[in-house]
Amino acid sequence: MKVIKFGGTSVGTAQKLKDAAAIINSYQQKDKVIVVISAIGGITNKLISAIDEAVHGSNKYSEIFWEITTVHHNYIDELFAADKRESVKSEVDSTLARLKEKLDGVRLLHHAAPKIIDQIISFGELLSQKILAEYLKSDGLNAVVYNAADFIKTDSNFGDANINFEITNEKVRIVFIGQKRNEIAVVNGFTGSNKYGDITTLGRSGSDYTATIIGAALKVDSVDIWTDVDGILNADPRLVPSAETIDEISYEQTIELSNLGAKVIFPKSLLPVKAENIPVKVLNSFNPDFAGTTITDETQNTSKDVLVVTSLDNVSIVTISNLPLYNSLEVVSRIYNLLSSAQLNVVSTNFNHHLRVLSLIINQKDLDKTINLIESEFQFVPESDFIKNIEIRNDAGIVSLLLNNSANVRQIINSASSSLSDLNISYRFINNFGSNTVQLAVKNSDIGKIVSNLHGVFFGTNQKANVA
Ligand code: ASP
Ligand code: MG
Repeated sequence: MKVIKFGGTSVGTAQKLKDAAAIINSYQQKDKVIVVISAIGGITNKLISAIDEAVHGSNKYSEIFWEITTVHHNYIDELFAADKRESVKSEVDSTLARLKEKLDGVRLLHHAAPKIIDQIISFGELLSQKILAEYLKSDGLNAVVYNAADFIKTDSNFGDANINFEITNEKVRIVFIGQKRNEIAVVNGFTGSNKYGDITTLGRSGSDYTATIIGAALKVDSVDIWTDVDGILNADPRLVPSAETIDEISYEQTIELSNLGAKVIFPKSLLPVKAENIPVKVLNSFNPDFAGTTITDETQNTSKDVLVVTSLDNVSIVTISNLPLYNSLEVVSRIYNLLSSAQLNVVSTNFNHHLRVLSLIINQKDLDKTINLIESEFQFVPESDFIKNIEIRNDAGIVSLLLNNSANVRQIINSASSSLSDLNISYRFINNFGSNTVQLAVKNSDIGKIVSNLHGVFFGTNQKANVA
């Protein structure tokens, strides 16, 4: 049995949805299959903008609603024979009517509580799910719609809900135990519900999570994530056109990679499958015969020291020095707590106890919030002079090398720095002792140059590689 998931771009046009259906069909011939589907690419963002307009009292929200309607109607026109179109449209229209009611309500109140936002943004998947299921049926397949809110049970942390695995696993097993061999289950990704039945969402890009939760509960053979690239690549192909697919990578390395800036898979989604040791495959729906990447525990890729060169752009480096002599550790832990309760995503931190210096690497968009939090936390605390000279470096980027466990870190740093010395750029290694990464703080504008240089060094795609 398999769970397969299609992302928004994999159903980004009617033709792509047809291609996805062909892939689904080929799975179904071999095995029982559960399909998890994302919203059509761009729809979730449109829903968020519609809420935003309605909250601000702008009627632009109804224009956006019509854009959403048109996208889905166009799919129906392209996918279905004339005699079928009206019935599919009327089904989709009744879902759209419920969406419109909610948006009208937000416009009326000029307010959208987190609970309402989740209800509204879950509509993208309800719509794509209907269209896909109807299309599979019109192709003679036995597709059955399953509503994720019936079995993905969460807390009430709207927008980023946490799964109650005990209840969810049991419900998933009960719901799918009766699935027939020829039945294709079609599940809306991204969505769950709390104990009162209110709709919750699992975080942006959370459809991967829906797939792995179901896969782990049912202990399937694999969870296959169909996306628009050839698996996990050893560099961002926009920066390095010669980037290559990694055949195998571990769950931990993949999570680490997501933290380092590579948008691979929704990081939390690897936890349930890791616990059951279920492989996750990342496959390209535009190149379906390609083997892609397998994420598992037993990776074979020990021949290479560096697995991936990756980067994060638009970060700020915040350096707080002169921390108080006697309780610097306490100050640092208060800062960590502040940032984590504000749910700020910290890219990396480094605390030098001896020098009493803390540096934080954060996304540039979070800079003001971070500084305000720290300043207001310590403004009336004695011996808090350190908040007066916080040093900020903007327009920075982080380039990271993800290493194999057995790699010689010293040697890698040497090769990297000797190659970069020719580039006439400034950079600084970030001290992250004991981790399986080498990281450099760089200027945002130098990221491309550095990534392609290092890719050349470690993956032998340019002259330098041989020298190094
Ligand atoms: N449609 C949702 C989003 O765009 C979930 C997903 O795509 O996985 O975030
Ligand atoms: Mg999406």
